[in-house]
Amino acid sequence: MEQAKQALLKKKARLERELSSFATKDQQVQGDWDTTYPRIPEGGLEEAAGEVEEYSTKLHIEFSLEKQLKEVNEALNRIAKGQYGICGNCGKNISQERLAVSPEARLCLDCAGKQ
Ligand SMILES: [Zn+2]
Repeated sequence: MEQAKQALLKKKARLERELSSFATKDQQVQGDWDTTYPRIPEGGLEEAAGEVEEYSTKLHIEFSLEKQLKEVNEALNRIAKGQYGICGNCGKNISQERLAVSPEARLCLDCAGKQ
């Protein structure tokens, strides 16, 4: 359990660092991050298109990182509540092998496979 917690905290720190490299944390909504929208350059449209494209790539990454961060936070909550390692769907214990690979796993392998 302690090992899982350390792994989750480490992952959380890494995700937050990655997010903060291009997004600012939304102060109103906990756990929400905003990607900084590019200023539209005074130069030609071509340049603007490039920035907008970069923005949409960033949004995509932000979404993925945010999702992972949410899962990590939820797993930490489950540890706090003493519900860690129990499948959120069928209530069985999630195997140690699975938790070693993804400590934030919410479902056992059987249930995850059905989704
Ligand atoms: Zn299950």
